[in-house]
Amino acid sequence: MDPRATQVTCPTCKKTGDWLATPWGPFCSKRCKLIDLGKWLGGEHVISEPLRAEHLEKYAGPPTNGHSDPSKAGDN
Ligand SMILES: [Zn+2]
Repeated sequence: MDPRATQVTCPTCKKTGDWLATPWGPFCSKRCKLIDLGKWLGGEHVISEPLRAEHLEKYAGPPTNGHSDPSKAGDN
């Protein structure tokens, strides 16, 4: 085995080899790279984003329902 070769594991098929020397690195082949890309697009790799307040706001709706805005009331 060539000691200069960097042994990496293909994320798709787990085959070990000097994949960084290939245009598809760290994948062993174009096919494996496309398979991994397909996983991303297919939602298999889901980046879990922390839930923030602004995500809830669009579902919560306005706190007052049917009442006029207190900041505008009594202005006539
Ligand atoms: Zn592979």
